[in-house]
Parts: sequence; structure tokens; C-alpha cells
Amino acid sequence: MRDKLEALGNQTLIDIEAAMDAAAIEQIRLRVFGKKGALSEVLKGLGQVSALERPQIGAFANTWKERLEEGLASRGQICEERDLDKRLAAEAVDVTAPARRLHPGSLHILTQTTRRIAAILGRLGFESASGPEIETEYFNFEAVNIPADHPARQMHDTFFIKPGHVLRTHTSSVQMRVLREKKPPIRIFAAGAVYRCEADATHSPLFHQIEGLFVDKGVRMSDLKGVLGELLSELFGTVKFRMRPSYFPFVEPGAEVDIECFKCRGVGHCQLCRSSGWIEVLGCGMVHPFLLTSAGVTDVTGFALGLGVERMAMLLHEVNDIRHMFQGDMRFLQLFRFRGY
Ligand SMILES: [Zn+2]
Repeated sequence: MRDKLEALGNQTLIDIEAAMDAAAIEQIRLRVFGKKGALSEVLKGLGQVSALERPQIGAFANTWKERLEEGLASRGQICEERDLDKRLAAEAVDVTAPARRLHPGSLHILTQTTRRIAAILGRLGFESASGPEIETEYFNFEAVNIPADHPARQMHDTFFIKPGHVLRTHTSSVQMRVLREKKPPIRIFAAGAVYRCEADATHSPLFHQIEGLFVDKGVRMSDLKGVLGELLSELFGTVKFRMRPSYFPFVEPGAEVDIECFKCRGVGHCQLCRSSGWIEVLGCGMVHPFLLTSAGVTDVTGFALGLGVERMAMLLHEVNDIRHMFQGDMRFLQLFRFRGY
């Protein structure tokens, strides 16, 4: 029994010295001193030892027990210190390491452009107005002088939602809503998403428009020209523009507005203006009398203008494909970090 105790003791001392961390020490403690541990197993044999020898063996076992406990305690302390050192090393912060680059979010180029134009119109006295994107056929078409059999309906590749309802094809649908709700003087702009079933490098099924409407006594085409001059010079700098007669069902007379190509300065021979020297930027005109009379507004005249936000953003930042606007490509988006609008 003495030999067994000695063998167990010596082997345990070797194991203790070899232990590298606190977990290993704990394992040894359980293996030797646990309920069914090695020491208990050896001491079970105490019953067969003669009564004479028993106290001596008991004392011998106690001495070993104390030695092993001491060994576990001192090696345990060393192991704990080692563990702490290891953890500190693993969790160390290298203050000299280069910082991770942050990519803060920013306003989308379309939001920036919308806000920029809204700010200009706001300074000219226009207030923001809005209408639903799921619009009745009436407000999208009939109300703005596009009856069911009108060929202009063919120009709008409309998304029909349910009978009598469409995804609005233009922000002009807000015009009649405002004319019915408010009394002149009316000076509003409506910005928002519009939808048409078309898609290529210059057309997207979802795009954005801004509509301006000014209705009051004695509003003339020269007022429209004045507002256009302000709007375009704030957007493009001092720039020549021209109004070219055109047709929109909700205005009479109607005009398309071109600015002199800011890239070739009107000379032509450049891709941006397709060698014409002019770039088409928006549509406008005097509010068609049909709209005013059907809204019950009398003794007033007005003008309306409508522009595409994507087209403006593309011109202002020389983007050549509308699809970039909607693809969420970080490389593209980061080119247009928030610039204060
Ligand atoms: Zn040009």
C-alpha cells in the first residue's frame, strides 16, 4: 500500500509539473482527490491493513496528500499567471495599427438633385405639394386633358394596377388635385416617383419628376421665362436657354426648354448635345384652360413646368446611363457624397 501511495504521489507530482494551464491543474485535482479519485481508490485498501500498521500508513497518506495539495496550489498559481499573460497578449490593442476605414452613408444623388431643385423653387416662392403614386386614371389622365381616346395615352406606357387605378405616369397628376383643393394664388411644386413601362440606358420604369405650377391673376409666359431663367442659371450657371414650341396636353401653348450645351458651349460636335449645341432639359407651358375651368377656377391664368430628376442629375454630373442610379453600386454612389443639399 505504501508503494502504491508513493507511485501515485510521484506520478502526480510529475503531472503537476507538466501542467501548462489552470484547466490542466483542475483536471489533476479531480483525478486524484475527486470522489472516485485515485487517492480514494488506494485508501480503500486501508481496511486490509493490520491495525498496527494502519496509523503509520494513514500518516504516510496524509503527508503525500499535503505534498500534492501544496504542489497543486503552487503550480496552479503559476498556471493562472500564465493564463492571464496569454489573455492579455491575445486581447491587446495595437494602437499603432491603421484605423479601419468607415464608409458613412450619404444622400443619394437623386435626393441631392431633388433637394437642390426644390430649394431653388422654394426661394422663388413655390411650396411643396404631393399626391399619391397609385393614382386614379382620372387624375393621371382625364383631369390633365388626356381623355381615354387621346393619342397622348399611347406616349405613356402605363402600369395598370386595378380597374380605374394606375401607377402615376407623371407628377402632373398633382396639378388638378391642388387646383381643386386650393384657391389661387397657387404656387406649388410636386416632387416624386413616377412609373412607365420602359427600360433602357436613358429610361427606367421608375423615375422621378418635379412639377411646378403657378396659377394667379395675370400670370404670363414671361413669368414662366423668368422662373426658368432663375432655375436654370442656379443649376447650370449662366447659360443661354431657348423655348421651343412643343405639345403637352395640359398646357397651351407648350414648350420644351433647351439650354446651350455647357460642354461644347453651343458649338456642336460633342456627344452630350448630339452635335446640336443644345440640350433639352424640361417641358413647360401655360396651363390649359381645360384644367382651370374643370377645377372651377376662373379669372386666372398659370404656367406649369415639369422636369425629370434623373435627367437633371445625369446632366449635372455627366452620368451616361440612368441604370447607375438604381443599381446601388458603392463605387458609383461614393462619387456623389453628400454635398450639402
Ligand atoms: Zn455639346
